[in-house]
Amino acid sequence: MPPACARPAAPSGKSHIYSAPVARPGGSSTTVRVVVGAQFGDEAKGKITDELAAEARYVVRTGGGPNAGHTIHLPEGTVVLHQLSCGVLRHTTCGVSGPGMVVQPIALDEEIRELERRGLLRGEFVLSDRAHAVLPLHEVEDAWEDDLRARRDPASALGTTRRGIGPAYADRAGRWGIRVADLLRPSVLRERLELLYGTKTGIPDLPPIDAVAAQLAEAGGRLAPYVRSTEPMLWDALARGESVLLEGANSALLDVDFGTYPFVTSSHPTSAGALVGSGLPPAEVEEVIGVAKAYTTRVGAGPFPSEDTGEAGEFLRRVGGERGATTGRPRRCGWLDLVLLRYAARLNGFTSLAVTKVDILGGLDEIPVCTQYVMPDGTTVRDVLPTNADDLARATPVYEKLPGWPELHERAKERLRREGARALPSALRHYLDRIAVETGVSVGWVGYGPGRGETVRIPPGAPAPGRSTVAAWTG
Ligand code: GDP
Repeated sequence: MPPACARPAAPSGKSHIYSAPVARPGGSSTTVRVVVGAQFGDEAKGKITDELAAEARYVVRTGGGPNAGHTIHLPEGTVVLHQLSCGVLRHTTCGVSGPGMVVQPIALDEEIRELERRGLLRGEFVLSDRAHAVLPLHEVEDAWEDDLRARRDPASALGTTRRGIGPAYADRAGRWGIRVADLLRPSVLRERLELLYGTKTGIPDLPPIDAVAAQLAEAGGRLAPYVRSTEPMLWDALARGESVLLEGANSALLDVDFGTYPFVTSSHPTSAGALVGSGLPPAEVEEVIGVAKAYTTRVGAGPFPSEDTGEAGEFLRRVGGERGATTGRPRRCGWLDLVLLRYAARLNGFTSLAVTKVDILGGLDEIPVCTQYVMPDGTTVRDVLPTNADDLARATPVYEKLPGWPELHERAKERLRREGARALPSALRHYLDRIAVETGVSVGWVGYGPGRGETVRIPPGAPAPGRSTVAAWTG
């Protein structure tokens, strides 16, 4: 049985129109926090969001669909969330799959059942009626499109997850899409499906419409108790002073406009995209937290200036366990790229950074970080992303080597748990300070292991851009 808040609210006569301004309990201010991936994905947004969820009432996934895979290591076992937000894992939170998402209804239903079976669906769950559906035909279309690209020119294949995300977003923009609300009305669903199938001429082996209609209606029926209009629910929550955490999926450098186009996802995984994908107004946002690995990885095709295709890359892949949570594909690995991080910081307005997987670099004597690019014409690039992917592919990264820190064995981790930030090795603090100075954004969280709780919080004390955060370490 879904929990009580997952049901559509009984008509109460109360308007769902946002009734701000309303005094907030205890004079507390609105708290909307946004978590954004600062690189190419897989930065451990799931883990950071899960930790921040402890301080939120609602956790909202704002974009993407079953292409995402947020991994959370709970004491009871590992969970990979694809279409559910981390909010469903805590008794105190409501996990929302928001209006900016494209959800595969059959897979979503299975994801819920699997979590229930494991006893891990602890929070409430709500699904936006405005989210779009990824249909079986989108998966066929996705594979067909990428094969088409590969046949014309192997270098132009995107290496998508083949989960149908791109075609589903394309149909949303083309106004052919089917929304979650449509799944609950079988006659409308059938009409919309017929219209949509009519646009897919030339794509071979589409699943038969009758079977698809029946499957979708069935999945829609099972999801129905969770479906509601989520924007008024969140507006009302903010008016009551409750905090909302927006959980971005995919990452800034994969943004359809501002990423490495065309090697991008089909949505806006930026802070601005999180607002569009939730229906919350920009003025409500207090914090934008950029999640970055201490190094860089990328799945699929596209330019990656600091990639290391040799031994070092192999080391990062092996020690970092760098395989896609959704596809199992090995991730391409390389060093931290400060050009991309500065760009992501400017694009998203990060108010702080969470730097994850610092344990993976432990034990290295020196750690290269890319501080700028030299372009073929001799110009340097420090904080913008060249518009053309092939220009970025021709950038030569310039590295500076920073001192490494010792491996974080169990005793060091125990100290971190006990003492917090001051137990971080000094060379690691130096590395993090350098990131803060170079990006102008303070580091607020440091992930030193995959487990829940293996994150150190740096006391606030944001530096002025260009100044060290060193004082914050002792705070
Ligand atoms: P997401 O999609 O951004 O949430 O990232 P993924 O879940 O795809 O990948 C992150 C992986 O790193 C997961 O397996 C996490 O359990 C793991 N992880 C997260 N934080 C840390 C950390 O600080 N150290 C280590 N060693 N692993 C981490």
